[in-house]
Amino acid sequence: MTNDYTDHSAIRNIYCIGRNYRLHALELGNEVPKSPMVFTKPTHALVPMDGREVELPGDQGEIHFELEIVLRAGRDWEPGIAADELFDAMALGLDLTLRDVQSKLKEKGHPWLAAKGFLGSSPLGPWLPFPGLAGLAKADFSLLRGGDTAQLGNASDMIFPPDVLAEHIGSRYGLRRGDIIYTGTPAGVAALLDGESLTALWNGEAAGSLSIRLRS
Ligand code: ZN
Repeated sequence: MTNDYTDHSAIRNIYCIGRNYRLHALELGNEVPKSPMVFTKPTHALVPMDGREVELPGDQGEIHFELEIVLRAGRDWEPGIAADELFDAMALGLDLTLRDVQSKLKEKGHPWLAAKGFLGSSPLGPWLPFPGLAGLAKADFSLLRGGDTAQLGNASDMIFPPDVLAEHIGSRYGLRRGDIIYTGTPAGVAALLDGESLTALWNGEAAGSLSIRLRS
């Protein structure tokens, strides 16, 4: 598949994993799940993390950033396929979340779409070659706000690693070429500020940046 990061047209389904890092589950007062917690976003939520400014709703309470490793299926999932064969690219992305809206939806037992699937809620950095499961665990990923590290994670801390996620999603919902998975966020999520800039780092190298405009 193309490695042109502006080509989001090739992306089919966006799967996201909730609470896949223990410390993040606990920081929001949630239980650590016993099986992967999967939700989806519309592809219309995608926005390239290429330094641009993204406009987001500023009148619905806090919008939290969640930095995540994003994996792309380069071929169709089939039973028994290894993650190293299935995924062909990775990126860092932000699973932006209207946290106050989400809290109300949770109380009512309603779906998360309004909190997780709004326009601009899925910033995505440039594709990088998939380094394999072993390679993923060798590098840290982090989110810089100004000069400060807001989040720091490592794939080895995932509760459900990519091979388990692929089997879970593929066998239940289908996982085919062009589908992507936001694999969950480590601890350190917080509310976005109007006018701030964010930079994602993979192994110490810039892997996407964005500036924030909150529309009131
Ligand atoms: Zn997330």
